[in-house]
Amino acid sequence: MVIVMSAAAAGSDVGTAVALIEKAGGQAFVSRGAGRTLVCVVGDPDGFSALNLSALPGVDTVIRTSAAYKLVSRENCLARSTVQVAGASIGPGHVTLVAGPCAVESYDQTLRAAEMAAVAGATMLRGGAYKPRTSPYAFQGLGEAGLRILADVREATGLPIVTEVVDAADVGLVSSYADMLQVGTRNAQNFALLRAVGEAGTPVMLKRGMSATIDEWLMAAEYIAQHGNLDIVLCERGIRTFETATRNTLDISAVTIVQQLSHLPVIVDPSHSGGRRDLVLPLTRAAVAIGADGVIIDVHPDPATALCDGPQALIEGDLLELADILTRWGRITARHADYAGASAY
Ligand code: PEP
Ligand code: MN
Repeated sequence: MVIVMSAAAAGSDVGTAVALIEKAGGQAFVSRGAGRTLVCVVGDPDGFSALNLSALPGVDTVIRTSAAYKLVSRENCLARSTVQVAGASIGPGHVTLVAGPCAVESYDQTLRAAEMAAVAGATMLRGGAYKPRTSPYAFQGLGEAGLRILADVREATGLPIVTEVVDAADVGLVSSYADMLQVGTRNAQNFALLRAVGEAGTPVMLKRGMSATIDEWLMAAEYIAQHGNLDIVLCERGIRTFETATRNTLDISAVTIVQQLSHLPVIVDPSHSGGRRDLVLPLTRAAVAIGADGVIIDVHPDPATALCDGPQALIEGDLLELADILTRWGRITARHADYAGASAY
């Protein structure tokens, strides 16, 4: 069961509902997002009927949900959510561009990549300071020095930053610099990390596990929501298949399916999906055409020297075409994106 609090509900209204549920032997998990507070109620629904929860002050509706994931299910909210990240927003009606280097290497490299991102129309900067690498000998990221560089580049450009956190112990530190925390594909079912980012309250971008089903991905998001944070953006970044021509296989249908199943925004990472520069713009067109709420794209001022993922980074010459895809195609498709997601209901 999920209680949808009204937009005008006071904190004390939420407290009253939680206290009644707990007194009746249930558990209540409060999850807050921009303009939306939900309470997930666990226990026997018949045991709560005497509480008349829908008549409580500040309660909008009470939904008996059959979905395995409750707080992130679209059953609770017919309108899809918008997540606010400092001055940027990700949600239905427009296509948000997040761009930047795969890894933060230096102030100059990050600033130049941020300037490239801005030329293409980005409203957020990406860049990893903690890099989860397949090889322990590969560049692991600059750590806190990288976070400081990101903060300096934010200061210089005004772009809010999203950066990956790989360890639950680092969540406090990373969220003291970042506007949005990224949970990467390799950690997408690291439940301790998901709980910690849920408790931090900073908006989260949750990438799809490379071998995760859509259900497993949404359940991972449910961990974050259950721990208090409903400001979650899902990111389809390709899944592992038998195909070796691409780094991963972009599961484009996941965008529409997730928009049907969940109220959370969903963006696409064409860079990590294909793993190839020549595929980034075609996959971006596909993402925008299907109604993704945004794209996150690697750019680098000099990919030949990049310490991570150079072959998939866009270069200066690609930026105007990227901007064109997002403005021209985005205008057309953003209008139907909400409809496409709603069509299952
Ligand atoms: C990244 O975005 O830098 C990254 C490591 O992505 P993923 O977790 O999707 O591989
Ligand atoms: Mn990368």
